[in-house]
Amino acid sequence: MRKTRFLAGASIVAAGLLALTACNSGTPGAAPAEGDGTDTTQLWEVASDVSLDGSPTYERMVSADKVVVGVKEDQPGLGFKDPVSNERGGFDVEIAQWIAASLGFDADKIEYKTIPSANREQELVNGNVDYYVGTYSITDKRKQQIDFAGPYLITGQGLLVAADNEDINGPDDLAGKIVCSVTGSTPLQRIRDEYNPGDTVEYDTYTQCLEQLRSGSVDAVTTDQAILAGYVAQEPETFKIAGDTFSEERYGVGLPKGDTVLKDHINTLFNDGGDVWTALFEKNLAPAGIEGEQPTADE
Ligand code: GLU
Repeated sequence: MRKTRFLAGASIVAAGLLALTACNSGTPGAAPAEGDGTDTTQLWEVASDVSLDGSPTYERMVSADKVVVGVKEDQPGLGFKDPVSNERGGFDVEIAQWIAASLGFDADKIEYKTIPSANREQELVNGNVDYYVGTYSITDKRKQQIDFAGPYLITGQGLLVAADNEDINGPDDLAGKIVCSVTGSTPLQRIRDEYNPGDTVEYDTYTQCLEQLRSGSVDAVTTDQAILAGYVAQEPETFKIAGDTFSEERYGVGLPKGDTVLKDHINTLFNDGGDVWTALFEKNLAPAGIEGEQPTADE
């Protein structure tokens, strides 16, 4: 399996900011709210000859005549909803659109539900979403309740600090420091289990942690570097990434447990769709200084 590498050098981040701010014009229903403005919907066609015999999730989509997708909405570059236009965009959102198209559903047949990290398994188990695409790390614990297709992106846990912070350069510098992360996330668990921060605080979303960091009530925010790079690209004067990644987070598409037909369909889509993957990556993640290669979807 190939690994995703991350760069967060100041010049790269600054270039990313330009790309994020300069090209925000969007055509309704087409270009997402961020990235370089490329309309990626032309990268794929909506499939017309779909046969997914034995997939209960696909049957549910067909009878509802829509796809219900769980996403995030406050993670620039990944899963984002523009507060003014309400338009959604980002790598994860477009991966979700690509999957829907491969199942025969046009973008206007997608109903998005913003679901925080802690509620993902339960929403899938309850049948409230057909699939979930939102920085969702594949773990054995989660696989007791749900299945994953993928991985489709590999990142790693990192730390975000104030731009003028000089004392935190990695997870071993957290003695006496207060670290914020999100309830139910793998980074929160890892920082508690494997490192020794002074204290941890948890919220439902990473943007709530960002506000705590901005006001100085916490010293660092921890989550995946791919998420943190998006925040730095938006506010390079305020935040910076401190040090290297210290875990491997393999992002998967959350699926109802047991739907192997749908899982295999999505894995094949990913493994056969290298050009689409690269275009989505270049558009949504490269502008924030993220470098990466497509992993093999072997779940
Ligand atoms: N990838 C990690 C997780 O799945 C952190 C990001 C998130 O909370 O979505 O827990």
